[in-house]
Amino acid sequence: MDWFTEILHADLAQQLKVKQVLYEGGTGFQTARVFLNDRLGKVLVLDDVVQTTMADEFVYHEMMAHVPLFAHPAPKRALIIGGGDGGLLEEALKHPGLEQVTIVELDPGVVELAKAYFHELNQGAFDNPRANLIIGDGAKFVAETEDRFDVVMVDSTDPHGPGEILFSEAFYRNCKRCMTPGGILVTQNGVPFLQPEELTQSIERFRALFNEGAAYVITVPTYAFGMMALGWATDDAALRQTPLSLLEKRFAKAGFDTQYYTPEVHRAAFALPMYVKRLVG
Ligand code: SAM
Repeated sequence: MDWFTEILHADLAQQLKVKQVLYEGGTGFQTARVFLNDRLGKVLVLDDVVQTTMADEFVYHEMMAHVPLFAHPAPKRALIIGGGDGGLLEEALKHPGLEQVTIVELDPGVVELAKAYFHELNQGAFDNPRANLIIGDGAKFVAETEDRFDVVMVDSTDPHGPGEILFSEAFYRNCKRCMTPGGILVTQNGVPFLQPEELTQSIERFRALFNEGAAYVITVPTYAFGMMALGWATDDAALRQTPLSLLEKRFAKAGFDTQYYTPEVHRAAFALPMYVKRLVG
């Protein structure tokens, strides 16, 4: 395979040169590929959609983890739905105040691939004593768990196949069910330029369940065709306005380095370009 082609839409695709195929096969739930690209390093593809690349994974994983975890005053327990590559888990565990991060990944094959090929991404996070890996459907987990979480991060695939249920009203309702008062839900919500309806629908569903439904934006080079939206839902509207000075204090106290996240970028990410603002309403 000389080039990997990601068909984004009926009329759009992107191609990544394949320097070396490291894995190609089925996981039981999805087809999976791991290959090397000279510029992006290792690339993880599931069902022919680019999930993460070593070169730009830091953007998405830092911003999905640190925005809610620094906005929340004192997160103790966090939940990740999906995230089988372990990149988000590794970022969340950098927060010393977190007693436990539960990660519910549907596909054990993805976790096996992550351990075999993406150690530089997850740094062995699955073996961290504060990590609690559960293999199962995230929608079922949030409907049944007795556990409660201060921050819920939905690091899902797109709303097709096994990931589809993670965009449903029932799933969001059950996320709220297992959140502590004042908890924050953040979601992978696609590239608004390509998937506008997905964002509008998630925000509408958030607002039917929470006092606040909003979005923030990031720029991930391999999520092609513009900025990516992350959904934000909480009953405590003040959390989205956490003062810069407080974010700076928490970031300094946490004491870890980043490549994308800064307190200023955190605040600025909620400033939406008009075309995204209109989708969010
Ligand atoms: N960062 C990537 C992105 O933005 O597209 C997604 C990373 S991660 C690889 C997505 C994970 O969601 C996959 O490992 C997939 O198996 C998992 N997933 C899909 N549907 C799921 C479900 N219903 N419950 C739990 N995990 C699910």
